Amino acid sequence: MENEIKVFCSATIANISCGFDVLGLALDGIGDEMIVKKTIKKGITITKLTGQKLPMETHKNVAGVAGLALLSVSDYNGGFEIEIHKKIKAGSGIGSSAASSTGAVWAMNKLLGEPFTNMELVKFAMKGEELASGVPHADNVAPGIYGGFTLVRSYDPLDIIKINTPKELYATVIHPQIEVKTSDSRKILKTNISLSDGIKQWGNVGGLIAGLYTEDYDLISRSLKDHIVEPIRSILIPAFDAVKSESMQVGALGCGISGSGPSIFALSKGKENALKVAAAMKGVYNKIGITYDIYVSSINLEGVKIM
Ligand code: ADP
Repeated sequence: MENEIKVFCSATIANISCGFDVLGLALDGIGDEMIVKKTIKKGITITKLTGQKLPMETHKNVAGVAGLALLSVSDYNGGFEIEIHKKIKAGSGIGSSAASSTGAVWAMNKLLGEPFTNMELVKFAMKGEELASGVPHADNVAPGIYGGFTLVRSYDPLDIIKINTPKELYATVIHPQIEVKTSDSRKILKTNISLSDGIKQWGNVGGLIAGLYTEDYDLISRSLKDHIVEPIRSILIPAFDAVKSESMQVGALGCGISGSGPSIFALSKGKENALKVAAAMKGVYNKIGITYDIYVSSINLEGVKIM
């Protein structure tokens, strides 16, 4: 069995308009890299961290915390050394913390001969998410581990379903260079919703799932609507309404907040349309002088993978 592997840790889009805290998808075009090595020394040591200023102490880094959760129930007697090479900026809303949590536990499981199921790996990775945002949410780590689109049908007991990904679906993501902490963008949410908003929302979740399975792009488009979270959170994101309306005008199927923001995502049918959406999004931010990173990506059907 190998002693060391290098993995691609996919960036992820959580929520996907109508599916707050339950839907997510994995991206191909952006992700971190990690090198994970078995050691005789017990525990987890983060030996290198490039690309971002983040804590390297095991208990303060999500990779360390998720890894310790796995080790606490494993009969393996040794430990692991982890190198993290960040490409995803922390607080970007495309699962920076989730990439490190999932990469660590997926690679460790691989090096141990895969004793744990994907569902168990998600549970370990959720411990990392708890450190990052105070809430052990699974909507970024589930697509990171399973790949493609995922639905967290239930948190207690944890029940994750991998959903079909239509072949021509592409994502465009723009990250305006301001930081929104997940913990802060959770604080502004209301804890109650009206029955009429609930009815619209679960109609759309059902429609989106049906559209993904039947590869019905019109149905996907009609269902990519968020009546509950987007109206509140979008105020934290510069020119959200303009980015959304310009994207829809050039043919996006839908456009919304990626995770807790500030990144904005759009889904399109085909790469050509996704590139048109990217140009439209850039146009809005160039006009008002906001710097950004932008990605056009196919959907990553595998999630974390060996490089
Ligand atoms: P995102 O949704 O982009 O992951 P969050 O705000 O949820 O952003 O998570 C970033 C937080 O997690 C930051 O406070 C950061 O210091 C902390 N963190 C700890 N370890 C890591 C890591 N390996 N990668 C990214 N963020 C980490």
